[in-house]
Amino acid sequence: MRKYVIMGVQGSGKGTQAGLLAQDFDLVHISVGDVLRWHVQNHTKLGAQVRRIMAAGELVGDDMVESVVRQRLDQHDWNYGFVVDGFPRNRRQAEFFLEGYDIDGVIHLHLPDAEVRRRVLARRLCSRCGLDYNLIAHRPEVADRCDVCGGELVSREDDTEEALATRLRDYHEKTNPVLDLFRRKEYVFTVDARPERAEVQQAIRQQLGLPR
Ligand code: AMP
Repeated sequence: MRKYVIMGVQGSGKGTQAGLLAQDFDLVHISVGDVLRWHVQNHTKLGAQVRRIMAAGELVGDDMVESVVRQRLDQHDWNYGFVVDGFPRNRRQAEFFLEGYDIDGVIHLHLPDAEVRRRVLARRLCSRCGLDYNLIAHRPEVADRCDVCGGELVSREDDTEEALATRLRDYHEKTNPVLDLFRRKEYVFTVDARPERAEVQQAIRQQLGLPR
């Protein structure tokens, strides 16, 4: 059983790296941001409650995200383990997590703020299948169209200069201290998120003692 948490500022490739790890080691990838975006897209009651908060780049209430994480983990379909991405993002969420689960590794992806801005503003998402693109590193073959399903590529509502500034501030003020909390109890390591995705993935696997 492997239980990991992946942390890092917006645009550091948390979702991509967690996905690669999950795929090869049969882990359940739990992305709180993806769950919340699904609710917004499908116009659920929860979606209506979080839409404006997310679009502004602010953090959704702790009770709400904790219940999303709890419900997902309570399904107990993670026979080989899980990788949680985007949670915890502050001290209280970290305490909730530390009380309930033993984590085998906390992956911290480090990316300087200037690079975050460059990546996030170039990020696009398929409006149909949700695949991630980046106009710098992963361009679609046909402009504004998904290579896989042909859906229209759009920017995330929170990938604007203004929302990004809020998210970066929250990250430095609230999420970084979580790493210190984790360090007291768990194995935390930092990986440089600037190289291309395969290289970052190799560095993560090496630190976790996983086969490459
Ligand atoms: P992400 O996809 O991880 O960048 O998350 C997108 C947005 O979802 C964030 O900007 C928050 O509004 C919300 N969100 C995701 N995870 C959390 C969390 N752990 N706590 C509070 N809000 C969250």
